[in-house]
Amino acid sequence: MNQNQQLFAAAQKHIPGGVNSPVRAFGSVGGTPRFFKKGLGAYVWDVDDQRYIDYVGSWGPLILGHTHPDVLEAVIAAAKNGMSFGAPTAAEVELADLICEMLPSIEQVRLVSSGTEATMSAIRLARGFTGRDKLVKFEGCYHGHADSLLVKAGSGLLTFSNPSSAGVPASVAADTLVLPYNDVAALEELFAEMGEQIAAIIVEPIAGNMNMVQASPEFVQAMRKLTENHGAVLIYDEVMTGFRVNLQCTQGLHGVKPDLTCLGKVVGGGMPLAAFGGRSDIMAKLAPLGPVYQAGTLSGNPVAVAAGLATLKIIREDDFFNRLSIQTKKLCDGLIQVAKETNTIFVAQSVGGMFGFYFSKNIPQSFVDVMNSDRTRFNAFFHGMLNKGIYLAPSAFEAGFVSAAHSDQDILDTLEAARSVFLEIK
Ligand SMILES: *Cc1c(COP(=O)(O)O)cnc(C)c1O
Repeated sequence: MNQNQQLFAAAQKHIPGGVNSPVRAFGSVGGTPRFFKKGLGAYVWDVDDQRYIDYVGSWGPLILGHTHPDVLEAVIAAAKNGMSFGAPTAAEVELADLICEMLPSIEQVRLVSSGTEATMSAIRLARGFTGRDKLVKFEGCYHGHADSLLVKAGSGLLTFSNPSSAGVPASVAADTLVLPYNDVAALEELFAEMGEQIAAIIVEPIAGNMNMVQASPEFVQAMRKLTENHGAVLIYDEVMTGFRVNLQCTQGLHGVKPDLTCLGKVVGGGMPLAAFGGRSDIMAKLAPLGPVYQAGTLSGNPVAVAAGLATLKIIREDDFFNRLSIQTKKLCDGLIQVAKETNTIFVAQSVGGMFGFYFSKNIPQSFVDVMNSDRTRFNAFFHGMLNKGIYLAPSAFEAGFVSAAHSDQDILDTLEAARSVFLEIK
């Protein structure tokens, strides 16, 4: 047994499944998860000293690559002044100001510690603001693991939804309505039927938890118009896409102002930090100003805030997103080209520093489309690439990420590996 295998066996003694978050276990691709001991720029090293080009980047936060010197310096400086106070600090005011300056839809913002907390709190706030209970979400979107979000569609459009996890009460699931992504007609039908009961729509405006699927312009417009017309709150879950696809996030690309936005991942620069914010009349309902309760011992943690601030300052520099987008597109265009040369059925797309690739003929528009891609081939590709030192997300239902540290040579090495793996798995 190598070190990874030994550690994975040892981990299972006291950690359920050997991991602290399920997708890390390689459940859908099989094999032994890699235990990492070091990251630098675009690379990670596992406990067997194997180096990988990393396209996961801790599932999105590491837009500058691993251990960026400025972020590291900011974190060390903050930690030396105290790890946590549970009281206000100047740095969290600076971060709130910066988020509101960068995202015009956010007038007020509250910092929390995880994306799950951000979405859970935004939903409670939307319900408190509207005095309504029903929540609309879309199949294939992931918004963290709060009870009301671990729900799958029932058998018909207006039938009750079912919990997608044990432990979620059916009574909680009943208030969440699940519709297919990009289905304007279904959304219109639902609002016509029960629009006055709906507190909020929550959506990943570019979905990154069913591989990568983009909302169509018609779908984006319909969500905005229907929520406006029926007095419901539009929540953009930009935990993954925020400061990852564009400096103004997806809402900048769509030219749409959501009522509330959830941020996470990049905004914390690799530390546990997330946020939710939006219209000040809605945010005013939050405690201590208003009746909607929300709190956190480590919220706005000074070390996490330092990492977030240092990261945002760098990505705001001239040309940062332009360069990152070009680099990510180079990877996707290269993969498409190599697939063509090896007669592999394959498509890929990117927005900013986020990408998706699929063993299918067309770019997917919904969860069902992603389900219909060739996942057996994905698993073979994943392991082939892993063996060649390329670390991709261990599931066909995850997006990929390029960082500012990925060089032209890294992309060329990745394409070289992909060429031989495409041939191997034919
Ligand atoms: C990662 C993610 C979350 C959950 O964030 P955690 O920090 O893992 O709790 C929520 N929504 C989206 C879109 C995400 O990608």
